[in-house]
Amino acid sequence: MTYRNVCRAGRASGGRVRQDDVSVTNEILQLMSETERQAALLQRRANPSLFRQLIDAFKTSRAHQQHIQQIIENHNAQGASPGILRFIREIVENQPKYNIPPRPVDFYYKRIDTHPGRHHADVHLEGRAADVYYNYHNPDERRMGDWLFDYCVANCHIYKIQGVIFGRRQWYSEMNGGQVFPRTQGDHDNHVHIELNCDGANLR
Ligand SMILES: [Zn+2]
Repeated sequence: MTYRNVCRAGRASGGRVRQDDVSVTNEILQLMSETERQAALLQRRANPSLFRQLIDAFKTSRAHQQHIQQIIENHNAQGASPGILRFIREIVENQPKYNIPPRPVDFYYKRIDTHPGRHHADVHLEGRAADVYYNYHNPDERRMGDWLFDYCVANCHIYKIQGVIFGRRQWYSEMNGGQVFPRTQGDHDNHVHIELNCDGANLR
């Protein structure tokens, strides 16, 4: 399949890197009846977890499966974007030209996943994310993953990286004032997740 740009640039964000989020919530709200939508919107601020439940209930109900499938397919880039492929080639497969912080001399990687991820409407399906596999609990692999994480944060502007996660750390350009903050979920202990914004993915 050939890559197609399915990005929708969202709010502009000054000098920061991130400019878009993948969220199907608004698309789901559009599908709802007026009554359902009003009921959901009332909870959006008042009770965010109930709001989430209403959206999820709509999403998983059989009656809406076809529409939801269509929404998800609208986010399917059919392949990895040029930007994420360039990042992998220049930073993971080869020693970076701009090598600060310096890549470990014994750097290696085992496996990289890009598109389609779990086939959810997310940055993997849009072709702008990569998972580079390292075991956070293995000191040697962790050294590689930690370097990749640090490199991405330090050089986010080059590739227009908007988010990175590995082990107990995460960074999003527009969260926590652009500072690294703790991740407690333990759901990224076997890979570094890297995501680009739309401009980065499409080499703009
Ligand atoms: Zn990922």
